[in-house]
Amino acid sequence: MKKTAVVTGGAGFLGSHLCDKLIKENIKVICVDNLLTGNLKNVEHLFGNEDFQFIKHDVTNFIHITGEINYVLHFASPASPIDYLLLPIQTLKVGSLGTHKALGLAKEKNATFLLASTSEIYGDPEIHPQNESYWGNVNPIGPRGVYDEAKRFAEALTMAYHRYHNLDTRIVRIFNTYGPRMRLKDGRALPTFIDQALNGEDITVFGDGKQTRSFCFVEDEIDGIFKLLVSNITEPINIGNPDEITILDFAKEVVELTNSKSKIIFKDLPIDDPKIRQPDITKAWKLLKWEPKINRSEGLKRTIEYFRRII
Ligand code: NAD
Ligand code: UDP
Repeated sequence: MKKTAVVTGGAGFLGSHLCDKLIKENIKVICVDNLLTGNLKNVEHLFGNEDFQFIKHDVTNFIHITGEINYVLHFASPASPIDYLLLPIQTLKVGSLGTHKALGLAKEKNATFLLASTSEIYGDPEIHPQNESYWGNVNPIGPRGVYDEAKRFAEALTMAYHRYHNLDTRIVRIFNTYGPRMRLKDGRALPTFIDQALNGEDITVFGDGKQTRSFCFVEDEIDGIFKLLVSNITEPINIGNPDEITILDFAKEVVELTNSKSKIIFKDLPIDDPKIRQPDITKAWKLLKWEPKINRSEGLKRTIEYFRRII
């Protein structure tokens, strides 16, 4: 008998790659998504597959699914800063009520639950690189607070279900991930820079561009998440690529790889924009034997190719 997984947010960028991975691993997938920031195009190649089912549903409401379920992976949530700034209440609701409903489903089915958490729970970090024992530096009432606090609450709720209901749980802290199926206009640095570079528009770097991020190619990220899912690790685990770069250098890299004539311009830095970010992945390596394999220039080439095709 094949196992069955429910993926909330499965029609989004990461969720759709996760659906592909689970099916490849011989696991049936029920993708539950209300298409708030996702797109059916991301999963339409799976529609003829008998191991795949799509349910359009807002997971902040009760989730009713019949039959056996072995895994619940909770990925539903707006994820790009402009999405969660435009959708603050939906973001808070899906991180709180949505996580509650997804945990309830896992408890009902005695399934393993995996929460898609984020490096944003570390906020604007005071330690570098960020390891899992750091509690973070988050402004709860700032514009990013709707996302950060929803995810922090989601982690607390997950641990409560683990401790009080003995639910088998996983928490993955995902660091900036990129690759095909990102929305061109989702406002995140990578699709924005590629879009601007391919169209010969000015590249908009926020602040002085000295803030750093560490970008992980989607294939590596999904591989790490799957390894965590099938492990028995209930503590949070960072999954990301530690190769850190300033946003200004990142913009220059995109200009170079696209052979673009775009020039870089500077705009105001958004409120509470983290100044540094780099995952400490010692734990992922020790416990899962996972580390990323695809370097940024290879990942960027593949992503630029994808965007050239869809523009
Ligand atoms: P995305 O916007 O592409 O995907 C999110 C999906 O959730 C969309 O398909 C959306 O329609 C769906 N959704 C939102 N609210 C819903 C609701 N109430 N009911 C049902 N579906 C709903 O974003 P993504 O980049 O794929 O992120 C997926 C998850 O990974 C999110 O939980 C995000 O917080 C987490 N994450 C992503 C990154 C990253 O770099 N992409 C980093 C850290 C964490
Ligand atoms: N950024 C930028 N120009 C853009 C979009 C983003 O300089 O057009 C910056 C942003 O301020 C942040 C970094 O790039 O410092 C990464 O932003 P992104 O939205 O990709 O992710 P996050 O801030 O969530 O890490």
